[in-house]
Amino acid sequence: MSLINELIDKVKKQDPEQKEFHQAVREVLETLEPTINKHPEFVKAGIYERIIEPDRTIIFRVPWLDDKGNVQINRGFRVQFNNAIGPYKGGLRFHPSVNLGIIKFLGFEQIFKNSLTTLPMGGAKGGSDFDPKGKSDMEVMKFCQSFMRELFRHIGADCDVPAGDIGVGGREIGFLYGYYKKIRNEHTGVLTGKGLPYGGSLVRPEATGYGATYFAAEMLATRGQDLKGKTVAVSGSGNVAQYTIEKVNELGGKVITVSDSNGTIVDEKGIDASKLKYIIDLKEIRRGRIKEYAEKYGAKYFDGLSVWDVIRKENLKVEVAFPSATQNEIDDKNAQALVNNGCFCVSEGANMPSTPNAVRIFQDNNVLYGPGKAANAGGVSTSGLEMSQNSMRLLWSREEVDSRLRGIMKSIHSSCLDASDYYGKKGDYVMGANIAGFVKVARAMLAYGIV
Ligand code: NDP
Repeated sequence: MSLINELIDKVKKQDPEQKEFHQAVREVLETLEPTINKHPEFVKAGIYERIIEPDRTIIFRVPWLDDKGNVQINRGFRVQFNNAIGPYKGGLRFHPSVNLGIIKFLGFEQIFKNSLTTLPMGGAKGGSDFDPKGKSDMEVMKFCQSFMRELFRHIGADCDVPAGDIGVGGREIGFLYGYYKKIRNEHTGVLTGKGLPYGGSLVRPEATGYGATYFAAEMLATRGQDLKGKTVAVSGSGNVAQYTIEKVNELGGKVITVSDSNGTIVDEKGIDASKLKYIIDLKEIRRGRIKEYAEKYGAKYFDGLSVWDVIRKENLKVEVAFPSATQNEIDDKNAQALVNNGCFCVSEGANMPSTPNAVRIFQDNNVLYGPGKAANAGGVSTSGLEMSQNSMRLLWSREEVDSRLRGIMKSIHSSCLDASDYYGKKGDYVMGANIAGFVKVARAMLAYGIV
């Protein structure tokens, strides 16, 4: 049995219930096969075995009082996966589905993503099974404070720097950072995604969506194309989806879908700037359901269906897709439907939104397929830029941050292409992203000896 298969078997046996983690390990390790022959020193030093085992896993109780005075208990997680090339870095997810397997998958992916950004950041992820939906601001604050009451001892500006993810936006980061500052008595870059008045970076809220769009633009350019006039599908209606829509509009594309966990909107006229403003207010301020968009603008609403289900059932024509909601949202049936309906470019705003079979269908059909760890790396890259600004105690202009972000996305795109070419599968962004991210981390681990 090959080393790669042995390791995939090992993670399955060790933690049989961690399905998403198995999926991420398989997807990465299978594409690392060509590095085994080229780098026998990595095999000898046990790099492949070591990289799939987190440095440390922290699981903790989060008790808090709801508005009725009842005690509520949630579970908190922080998986510090690998800090070979920089402090641990990765978001916090608050969602009822959160469990150790999901946090490990996200933390593992983060190692390679962060390495690709060219910035010095290790990989980590955390979160809780707490559901902010339907909770009052006071309840969210109490939960965040209790979560930080434990997390603070494990993080630090030079040790581990969390950020947002699903369910953790500006409001939650404010509560988390405020409490950290209070109990540590220090104002430091320990979280990113902070508000502008207290150490945030311009363009950080927009960065993941903008970055995924820049990445799509780079992929399209390899075929002499751009986003102008293209019909675009976006899923989700949260942070990543919102700023993907903004940037696609700016580059001349027409976005016709958005969704949330209850259903999907199809607006064939396109979601323009004023409709997007409505979505941002609906989701960030009023915390309502996307269905309300249909009522306001007379668009179609499909209850209980994802964007990709709707494209399949309604045979919607789209050329470019930005899955921006959650993992495994596109399965093989829906991937095939996308291809059949003319989609030739997929740039993943979400982490691992396409199942392995869906990825195969995209690749077999010559779709320009940008995997999340490359395409959505703009968010963490700009978090890295926020850390730099915090260390220097200064604030870069919007133009400066955006042009650095654009430069980083360009460089990630070319690293993917260069690595896929060097290791014999030119144009395979999955292999390119995994190998380019891996080799840098592996070299650092090698330098440290067995630690
Ligand atoms: P938000 O919480 O802001 O938005 C998530 C959106 O996806 C919401 O519309 C939500 O619907 C929907 N959604 C969440 N879970 C599900 C589900 N199980 N089924 C259907 N819809 C769902 O999160 P983000 O926009 O920040 O994150 C979206 C994706 O992007 C995630 O995969 C995240 O890991 C990834 N990502 C985010 C980065 C960032 O900077 N924020 C950076 C890199 C990747 P509802 O409103 O009903 O909850």
